[in-house]
Amino acid sequence: MKVVIVGGVAGGASAAARIRRLDERAEIVMFERSGYVSYANCGLPYYVGGAIEEESALTLQTPASFRARFNIDARVRHEVVKIDRARKAVTVRALETGETFEEPYDKLVLSPGAKPIVPNLPGLDGANVFTLRTVEDALRIRRYVEQNRPQTATVIGGGFIGLEMAENLTEQGVRVTVVEKMPQLLGPLDEDMAAFVHAKFRAKGVALALGSAVTGVEQRPEGVFTLLDNAPALGAQMVVLAIGVSPDTALAREAGLETGAKGAIVVDGHMRTSDPDIYAVGDAVLVQNGVSGAPALIALAGPANKQGRVAADNICGGDSVYRASWGSSVVKVFDMTAAATGLNERAAQTAGLAYDKVVLSPASHASYYPGGRVMTMKVIYEKGSLRILGAQIVGFDGVDKRIDVLATAMQAGMTAVQLKELDLAYAPPYSSAKDPVNMAGFMIENIETGKVKQFHYADLSHLPENAQRLDVRTPGEYAAGHAEGFVNIPVDELRGRLAEIDPARPVYAMCQSALRSYIACRILAQNGYDCYNFSGGYRFYQVNRENRFQETARTSCGR
Ligand code: FAD
Repeated sequence: MKVVIVGGVAGGASAAARIRRLDERAEIVMFERSGYVSYANCGLPYYVGGAIEEESALTLQTPASFRARFNIDARVRHEVVKIDRARKAVTVRALETGETFEEPYDKLVLSPGAKPIVPNLPGLDGANVFTLRTVEDALRIRRYVEQNRPQTATVIGGGFIGLEMAENLTEQGVRVTVVEKMPQLLGPLDEDMAAFVHAKFRAKGVALALGSAVTGVEQRPEGVFTLLDNAPALGAQMVVLAIGVSPDTALAREAGLETGAKGAIVVDGHMRTSDPDIYAVGDAVLVQNGVSGAPALIALAGPANKQGRVAADNICGGDSVYRASWGSSVVKVFDMTAAATGLNERAAQTAGLAYDKVVLSPASHASYYPGGRVMTMKVIYEKGSLRILGAQIVGFDGVDKRIDVLATAMQAGMTAVQLKELDLAYAPPYSSAKDPVNMAGFMIENIETGKVKQFHYADLSHLPENAQRLDVRTPGEYAAGHAEGFVNIPVDELRGRLAEIDPARPVYAMCQSALRSYIACRILAQNGYDCYNFSGGYRFYQVNRENRFQETARTSCGR
C-alpha cells in the first residue's frame, strides 16, 4: 500500500507516524510546502518573544529523523498542486527547482491546515506587515524585531494568535495596540469573562481598540498606519495581521471533493472524504460540534493530531471514529490563564438552547496555604436536562486542570449537578477539599432545587423598581467601593438587623465573591424574604464595569 500525505505538520505527521506503527510495509510519502516538517506551530509566538530561544526547538522532527525512525519519505519545500482522482496520483512541484512530477497513491491523506485570512486591503504587502503560520513566518518576524527594534506594533485581531503575538511583542519591549472588530478579545469567552483578559492586557500596557474595524493599511514615511472605521488611524512600526484562518482547501475543491462552510472539506467519522480513497484531517475539515451537533470548524492542534491517528487506523484496516470536537482551549495571558470548553453563552443562544449559568470565584487552592489566587469560573448548563454545555475560566494557577476536568465531565455526559460528586485530588498546595469544580456543582444544585435565586451583571440595569439592594460585605470593603444604590449590612450582622429590610420587597444581595451573599440569601429566604444572589460578586462587577468605562472612554475621545 502506498500512502501519500499532503501537509507534514500536526495532522499529517501524526497520520504518517501512526500508519508506520501499524504497517511496517506501507510506502509513505509526505509532502510539505514549507521548509519544515512536524514543527511546533503553537510555539511560534513564544519564539518571537524569546521564551523559546533556539529555532531548533521549534522542529520536533526533520525529514532525516522521519526517515531514520519511521522510514517515511518526508519532502519539504514540495507543494502538491493537483489531485487526479481518476488516476489516483498527485502532481507535486519541487519549490527549490520549480520542477513538477507525479506521485501515485493508493490512499491519500490531506492535512493542509488553515491559512491566515488576509483581506484585500491596500498596504498589506509591506515588509513591516506580518502573518504567522509557519516557522519561516516566525523567523521573519523575529529577525525584523531584532534588526529594527520597533517601538510600536499594531496587532490586528484579538484571537489566540493575535493575543499571543501581542504578549510576546510586549515581552520584546514593543508597545502594542490590539485592534479587534468585536467588542471583546478571545471569542471563545463571553464578554463578561473576556473583561478579565482586557484588564490584564491594559495593566501590561497593551492598548485595546475594541469594536473597531480595520478599513485599510497605509504605508507612510513615518510607519505603517492602520485605518479604523470609528477612530483615527493607528501608526506603528509594524503590523501583525491575525484576524483568523480559513481552511487551505483549494486543492481539495479543485479535485471536486465535497466541501462545506468556508470551503472546509466534508468528512465522515472515519475522516474519509467524499472520495473513499482520500482522507482529510485537521484545520481543513468540518467536524461536528460535540455539544450542539452542528457542523463546526475548530482549528486546534488536539483535534488535528487525533484525527490524523483516526485516519491512519482506518487506512490500515481499523475502525476508528472521530466523534466530535468540543473546542477545549487554553491560552497564556502574561501571568494569567484563560481557558474554555464547549459552548459559551453566545453559542448556546445561537444553538437555541435554554440554559442557565453559575459564575464563581474560588481560590486555586486552600486559602490558608500561601500562594492561592482567585480564579473566575463560569459553567453553562442546559435547563431541564442539566447537561453541561460549556465552561470558561480566567485566573492563575489551576485554571488548566479545572477546564480539563469540566471538559471531561461534559464529554462523558455528566450533568452539571454531578460535578459536586467528582472525587478530585486534594492537598492544600493544590486545591481545596471542595474543589472549584465541586463548588460549581453545589451552586447548580442549590439553584435547581430552589435554595437560591440569582441575578446577573446584565440584570443590574433593570432590577424591579421596588428592589432592595444589599451589600453584605464588611464596612471596610463597602467603603472601598460598592455598586450604585447598594446599602451595607454585613452578613454577620444580618440576623440582628432584619428589621431594616422590607419583607414585602425583593432583596438583591451582593458580596465580594457571591459566597457571603449566598449565606445572606439563605438567612433572608428562611425569614420569608424573596432574595436574589448576585452571581460573580463585586469582583466580577468591578472588572466588567471598569471594562465598559475604558471602552466608552476610548471611543468617546476617538482614540
Ligand atoms: P498544520 O499543522 O497547519 O499543517 C498544515 C501544513 O500543510 C502546513 O505546514 C502547510 O505548509 C502544508 N500544506 C498546505 N497545503 C499544502 C500543499 N498543497 N502541499 C504541501 N503542503 C501543504 N492550536 C492549539 O490547540 N493550541 C495552541 O496553542 C495553538 N497555537 C497556535 C499558534 C500559531 C501561531 C498557529 C499558526 C496555530 C496554533 N494552533 C494552536 C493551531 C494548530 O497549530 C493547528 O490547529 C494545527 O496545527 C492544525 O493541524 P493541520 O495538520 O490541520 O495543519
